[in-house]
Amino acid sequence: MQPRDLSDHSPYVPGRGDEEVARELGMDPEELITLSSNENPHGASPDAVAAIREHAEAIRVYPKSSHADLRARLAERWDVSDEGIWVSAGADGSIDYLSRAMLEPEDRVLVPDPGFAYYGMSARYHHGEVSTYTLDRAESFDQTAETVLDAYGGERMVYVTSPHNPSGSTMSLDQVRLLADATAEETLVVVDEAYGEFAEMPSAVSLLDERDDVAVLRTFSKAYGLAGLRVGYAIVPEEWADAYARVNTPFAASELACRAALAALDDDDHLDRSIESARWGRAYIRDHLDASTFESAGNFVLAAVGDAERVTEAAQAEGVIVRDCTSFGLPDCIRITTGTREETRTAIETINGVLERLELGVYA
Ligand code: PMP
Repeated sequence: MQPRDLSDHSPYVPGRGDEEVARELGMDPEELITLSSNENPHGASPDAVAAIREHAEAIRVYPKSSHADLRARLAERWDVSDEGIWVSAGADGSIDYLSRAMLEPEDRVLVPDPGFAYYGMSARYHHGEVSTYTLDRAESFDQTAETVLDAYGGERMVYVTSPHNPSGSTMSLDQVRLLADATAEETLVVVDEAYGEFAEMPSAVSLLDERDDVAVLRTFSKAYGLAGLRVGYAIVPEEWADAYARVNTPFAASELACRAALAALDDDDHLDRSIESARWGRAYIRDHLDASTFESAGNFVLAAVGDAERVTEAAQAEGVIVRDCTSFGLPDCIRITTGTREETRTAIETINGVLERLELGVYA
């Protein structure tokens, strides 16, 4: 017996982790600087870790009140009703919930190219079809309503990533509004703000006051440093209240994830430090890397380095793990996550050394 035909489904290619690379190279993970998955170099909020310890015994029960409390707390944070918050296992979980809630078989979804792979993967799992709009590298991956509308053909869902992974470009609120105005009434514009905290621009959540065809994705994986817990959420028009109960995977955001997220939301110091450090890091990388880079509003910078695979491998051998962007369709680019100041400085020095040696043909 075999699963159904999955030949259309491409596996997700994650950034490489320190444990994995350390095992391969026979090194201690502590010796590695891991800047490949846009994780938080400052770790989780200490309050979140304390909440996990405090509630460790509670894993016996299903997450009921903690989940309700997190929805209520997020609703307060965004000034929406509790029904407008769909908590999930990571923002990836919310992408699935939106696919489930919106797509009939063969409905089409429009996604950015290059872009985050899971939009298309989720659409395909839910028997949808995927088309792409191109973000033009020659235009620094600039995001306007027009860029998307050039490729738009009445799709049921349109994904916008702002800040965009892997380029770091953004779409302004005005452009999102123009896009939502120009698309059909039955098209949902999903604005993925997984990196929203790092950007210096307002969230698209404010558009939900005026309209019911926009949803926003947010996560605790990046600025809050809780990637390993898997907790994120969608902010959706409250008119869809009923849909969440019908499409969510029961208890997908775990008891400890909900407790930690609640604690992290109250730790402004940790959040501020994470944001400040990402903003410093992206400016530092752009100023000091000996390669051409793209302006980024996220906690990472995309850089054109020639042969991404060779640069990634050579940097890794020297203890710096970055993301080879070949799987994004950018085989000459790497994406460097911002680390602590010390990590970022060391990583850039190492990568510059690698670039210099490659230029000299030392690795040939
Ligand atoms: N959206 C974008 C643009 C991302 O880069 C990521 C994570 N890499 C996600 C969503 C999903 O994040 P998570 O599931 O960890 O919340």
